[in-house]
Amino acid sequence: MEYRILGRTGLSVSVIALGCEGFMNKSEKQVCKEIAFAISKGINFIDIYSSNPDLRSNIGTALIGHREQFIIQGHLCSTWEDGQYLRTRDVDKTIAAFDDQLLRLKTDYLDIGMIHYVDSESDFNEVFNGPILQLALRWKEEGKIRHIGLSSHNPTVARLAAESGKIDVLMFSINPCYDLQPASENVDDLWADENYAHSLHNIDPERERLYELCEQNGIGIDVMKVYGGGDLLSEANSPFEKAFTPIQCIEYALTRPGVAAVMIGCKTCEEMQAALDWCDATKEEKDYTCVMTGMEKFTWEGHCMYCGHCAPCSVGIDIASVNKYYNLTVAQQGFVPETVREHYKVLTHHASECIRCGKCEKNCPFGVDIIGHMQKASERFGY
Ligand code: SF4
Ligand code: SF4
Repeated sequence: MEYRILGRTGLSVSVIALGCEGFMNKSEKQVCKEIAFAISKGINFIDIYSSNPDLRSNIGTALIGHREQFIIQGHLCSTWEDGQYLRTRDVDKTIAAFDDQLLRLKTDYLDIGMIHYVDSESDFNEVFNGPILQLALRWKEEGKIRHIGLSSHNPTVARLAAESGKIDVLMFSINPCYDLQPASENVDDLWADENYAHSLHNIDPERERLYELCEQNGIGIDVMKVYGGGDLLSEANSPFEKAFTPIQCIEYALTRPGVAAVMIGCKTCEEMQAALDWCDATKEEKDYTCVMTGMEKFTWEGHCMYCGHCAPCSVGIDIASVNKYYNLTVAQQGFVPETVREHYKVLTHHASECIRCGKCEKNCPFGVDIIGHMQKASERFGY
């Protein structure tokens, strides 16, 4: 298992982590068995957005004896009414659901208190300028939540949250299809057929900027909808008319800047194993570029996807990382933040070592001007 630091929280999280939807409508015994399986594979991170009381209780039981090693990302503003999940901004309901959550999880704190599902700017303003954020800040001060997060599908809202200085963690929906789509307050737009009917080129700049901003500001991203609700795994349902494997989807999410973990909702241990297979996968198995090339309507031409397909470089430069750090400075209008300078410094080989052999460019499926990028990076960082 690979572990990454979740931004400025300092928490070391397993890159393969658990969503909770796979634990719905299951017995305590079944949930305990599946979480024991996850723990045996090194998973130490779970997201619990569901307010379903049984699900919370069963996960609480499964984590007895493991609480201190496990990182729980619980959601605020997710309540249970009349046998149904309900998103709320009502303070009393939020407090009652939070207390119930701690009780059922058999703990007195959440590692991350995730403000649940903020997709519109008006909702963001209500949450961040009103009592919900104050409540989260108070719980943080009291130690009931260690870090504040926000979950969203909208890059505009997520960016407002990231720039607010109030959140340490962002839960965001990332996959190659959603990344093509512009910001919207309606989550259904991300998968609407008509939005894939025309040509789409490259990652939406707002999404790209969001990931870079999070990496720069130390806001750890954990990813939901890694498989696009399963559609990306099916040739019939994928807008690309090509199927990704779970390993390719996971690799795509994990190669976006700022991303620390993917939260996979698994109905069975077999599904969990399919995600865990990423840990031992070969470079070829992780390579998602074969699905994303050769299409007429969708292209990523000239745009570095950090896929690593161009490796190995003749002199050992980690081209994807150099491009990523350089792009972080471009996003800062040329300013080189200290953290980026340090990340660049510790690379084993630097852009100035490029001998312009052109081998990498022949291997890049997206036609990136790699030699030009190495030149610019070398000038920007000074070596
Ligand atoms: S330069 Fe091309 S092959 Fe290399 S990481 Fe970027 S997109 Fe991938
Ligand atoms: S052109 Fe430069 S970056 Fe590309 S393989 Fe050759 S030395 Fe490496």
